[in-house]
This record gives sequence, structure tokens and C-alpha cells, in this order.
Amino acid sequence: MPANQPSPEQASIPARAPRAVYIHIPFCTNKCHYCDFNSYVLKGQPVMDYLRAMEQEMAYTVEQYPPGVIDTIFVGGGTPTVLTPDQMSYFLESVRKAFPNWSPSIEFSMESNPGTTDLDKLRAMRDGGVNRISFGVQSFNNDLLHGIGRIHNTDDVYRSIENAHKAGFSNMSIDLMFGLPNQTVEMLDHSVTKALELNLPHLSIYSLKVEENTLFHAMYHRNELPLPSEEDELDMYMLIMDRMKAAGYEQYEISNFAKPGYESRHNTVYWRNEDYYGIGAGAHGYVNRGRHLNIKGVNPYVEACKQSLPRLDSFTIEESEAMEDFMMVGLRLLEGVSSTRFASQFNGALLDKVFSDPIRRLLKQGLIEATDDGYRLTEQGLLFGNNVFGEFVGTLTAKE
Ligand code: SF4
Repeated sequence: MPANQPSPEQASIPARAPRAVYIHIPFCTNKCHYCDFNSYVLKGQPVMDYLRAMEQEMAYTVEQYPPGVIDTIFVGGGTPTVLTPDQMSYFLESVRKAFPNWSPSIEFSMESNPGTTDLDKLRAMRDGGVNRISFGVQSFNNDLLHGIGRIHNTDDVYRSIENAHKAGFSNMSIDLMFGLPNQTVEMLDHSVTKALELNLPHLSIYSLKVEENTLFHAMYHRNELPLPSEEDELDMYMLIMDRMKAAGYEQYEISNFAKPGYESRHNTVYWRNEDYYGIGAGAHGYVNRGRHLNIKGVNPYVEACKQSLPRLDSFTIEESEAMEDFMMVGLRLLEGVSSTRFASQFNGALLDKVFSDPIRRLLKQGLIEATDDGYRLTEQGLLFGNNVFGEFVGTLTAKE
């Protein structure tokens, strides 16, 4: 079967035109010590070949599954803003060509790292339709930044945000991290203070995960990674939640905080288990109950796009697995999972009936609570989210 044809199983599922697009730019100026994303050091990479290959992939993609009106585009990486202004304009024009039909209220986000955003580039982004920037700040402590392998410092953060304002951006987010080596609760508190002083509408605050195939993983196994204790990490998370609430931000997801109306619409597509295109090396996509993973290496990706869709793997998600995914990702949202949405994604299925056992257990443990239309995490459940999500793993699929 040609790579750009749906499988027979997928062909029998009524098609929903995707309204969200994820695009991956896998280049970075260096590799951070904790990073297991599909990213490569920029120097010597065939950037223009890569951008042309993505153009090809976008063309095959919309031929296979024509898009609906596009509501959200998210360009992640990697560091998309390592593109030069000319490359950026070229890339954004190709996005517009492949997906010409945008909602008037489209959310078009691009990830960026401080120090890679001069004014010309930011203007090229704005002219190309980008209207939201997510900055990877991570910390306002230069020693900690150095210790995790970031190449920017706090001055770069302020300069980048000032440039973004000058270029006309107001919808901005920053990422912070906690649980970093040598980080204390006081250091985190200081970073949160500095972040809040910027008065941006959105913040994402993640805990460090030591992933395999990273420098930190090797250091961890050599006992050379001075991570905070579990108690400190819990204190950090509680401090974050308290401080964000006091500053008027709503926590709408386990790691995300927004001023009203500024919740990330693109990420909400993932958390609601809805469809999205995934374009670029190593990108995942989920369309019409078909999930794919693209080839990860830059050159193999470029070569593959000359023939067809650059898939490393594609598989149909069975209904039972999609239902489990719906619960696991949906409960990350503080609004919780909706029985109405569940019924509409799964031919009228009843959430209460399908997941009666785990729901009963979690209610009893006080980790979830009922809402008008489903369930959500309790305050306690928020602290032990992984225990909650784990309850749904294999609930249905293990029975098959
Ligand atoms: S900037 Fe981001 S994607 Fe690039 S190496 Fe660092 S963590 Fe990874």
C-alpha cells in the first residue's frame, strides 16, 4: 500500500478534518544536558533541504487527509528560531501554501530560545502569521542555566522579550523548570518572582525528568547529579501553584497557568485527544484514529520525503486504546474529562460504564471528583497525577 494512503481500518472510520498542525524544526545551537527531544546541533545541517522536504511532506499530508479550517499551528523543536530571517519567511510561506484556510482567531505559536530572536527574525515571524511565542527560559539563575547546558543567560531573556514586544507580540509564554540539580526551593521562588514581573499571559512550569540517552542520565547513574529531594520537589510544586494563583493565573493543566483566555489552544487539542497533523523529522501525528511517527534523522527524513510520507511507523489506534488515552491525557486538564465529549468521540459510549472500576477506586481514594459532566482531579490528585493516569493504563486493552 502506498505510504500516503489510509489503512483499510482507518478508511472505515468517518473522517474528521484536522484543525491543528504541529511542525518540528529539529535544530538547536547546542544540546542541553537533559534533552531527549529530536534535536541536532545546527552547525553543518542542510537547513534549506530540510525546509523543502517539509514542504513535500505537507503536500502529501493534505492530499491524504484534506484539512479543515486551521485553528492552531504549533512550531516546536528543537529551536525553530535558529532559522535565519530569510529561512523563516520561506518556511512560513510554505506553511501558508499547504494550509491556506486559517480561522480568523488562529493561534499560531512558535517555540523560541532567548538569544535566538533578533528583531528582523521576529518581524519575519509576525509577517508570516505567528501570533504567539513560547520562550524556553527555564530559570532566572545563571548558574543553574549553565549547569543544565543552556547557552542563554537572564539578560538574553529580557532582551528577547523586549524585542518580541517591539515586533508586536503580546501573546507570550515562558517555560520554567523545577527539580534541577542544585536548585533549592528559594532559588525556584526567586525565578517565579522574576517570571511574574514580566507580566506575561501564560507560563508553563515543568519538573525535570532524567531521560535515557542524555548526559544527565549518565551522571545520575554515576551518582553525580545533585537533584533536590522528593520533599523539596513537592514543596516546589506547591509553591508554584500557590504563587501563580496569588498572581491571578488559573492553573488549567498540571504544568500550565494562564490569564483568562490565554490557555494554549494547541496543547488543549492533545489533552482532549483530538486530531492533529504532525510534520517534520521525528514528529508524531494523530489523524482519523491513525498515529504516526516520522523518521528522526535529518538526512534520512529529507531523502524519504522525496518519495512519499516519511514514516518510521504508522498504526491504527484501536477504540479501546483511544478511550484509555482520552482519560490519561484528559485528566491532566483541571476541567477534567467530559462525558459528552467521550460519547461524541466514541459513538455514544458511556464514560461511567466503560471505566466504572478505576473511577470507583479513584473516587474512594479522593484522587478524582465528579463534575457536572464527568470527572476531574482533586487537589490531592493533582499532586499524585501519575497514580491517577496509571489506573487507566491497560484497563481495556489488557482485556483484549
Ligand atoms: S533547546 Fe530545547 S530542544 Fe534544544 S537541546 Fe535544549 S532542551 Fe533540547
